[in-house]
Amino acid sequence: MAATLIDGKKVSDEIKAELKARIENLRHCDVIPGLAAVLIGNNPASETYVSSKAKACDKIGIYSEVIRREAVATQDELSDIIRELNRRSDIDGILVQSPLPEHIDELAVTLLISPEKDVDGFHPFNVGMLLLGRPLFRSCTPYGVMELLRRYDIDTAGKEVVILGRSNIVGKPLAAMLVQKEKFANATVTICHSRTANIKEVCRRADILIAAMGQAEFVKADMIKDGAVVIDVGINRMPDLSSEKRYKLVGDVDFVACRNKASFITPVPGGVGPMTIAMLLTNTVLSAERRLAGA
Ligand code: NDP
Repeated sequence: MAATLIDGKKVSDEIKAELKARIENLRHCDVIPGLAAVLIGNNPASETYVSSKAKACDKIGIYSEVIRREAVATQDELSDIIRELNRRSDIDGILVQSPLPEHIDELAVTLLISPEKDVDGFHPFNVGMLLLGRPLFRSCTPYGVMELLRRYDIDTAGKEVVILGRSNIVGKPLAAMLVQKEKFANATVTICHSRTANIKEVCRRADILIAAMGQAEFVKADMIKDGAVVIDVGINRMPDLSSEKRYKLVGDVDFVACRNKASFITPVPGGVGPMTIAMLLTNTVLSAERRLAGA
């Protein structure tokens, strides 16, 4: 039987509708949530990401501002921008779009962002607090995966979860969320990476398999067990001459082959992707609510 499709677009629309109501309440108290994105250089993919985040903000009533600088911008210029955004009371969330030019020290930039405005959840304070189970903000993509599991009522307690990928923005924080001693977590987690031995066998143990590697259609049907939940974080561009764009997006999972073996599966696009922005908006609204509570 074909797996149930986990519809990230639908869930993200639900989340945005819930946020709209929270934003309405904030507006009644004269608080408008504000998100600032800093964009250095003119990487086309970064432009697309930043403009889709800005559009999503507009749609639900979050004020958004994009601060652009040429790729030659210095570390000091970028630091000044962050310090100013930290000071501004109308800005609740700050994000610095990666990749940054090579001459910029990305960690130094992240360290400058106030943890109270770190809506990407990348500041070491929030990363550390995530391990303790008490972050101010959870990083958006893993938070989106957790929210999809929760909203589809997929129990993770006592389940074997295998995560493919150990990046600082997906694999590692996701593992930290899944092992927490709390509802919708309590999982037994294995993280795989390029040095993992017998990766197929490890994957076959998974009740829930989460792929975040950036390797198109890496996960084949013989790597999942019957009835596994399969979450595909990967986004890969593949040549497709039949489409107008000349490419199509595919995930890290061979979707067609795996959907007849899995119990639940996310599509690409339309699975985890839309959740990332929804969780960024969630973090921004949460930050504005804290501003109001602290006023
Ligand atoms: P990274 O490149 O930072 O990390 C990839 C991870 O996968 C690494 O840990 C790497 O291992 C591991 N890996 C790569 N190839 C293999 C292999 N053949 N066997 C075993 N492990 C392997 O990627 P990100 O975490 O940033 O992103 C992962 C994917 O998720 C990408 O496709 C990206 O586009 C997508 N993504 C999607 C988002 C969304 O909103 N849906 C948001 C963020 C990312 P090692 O550490 O040993 O090198």
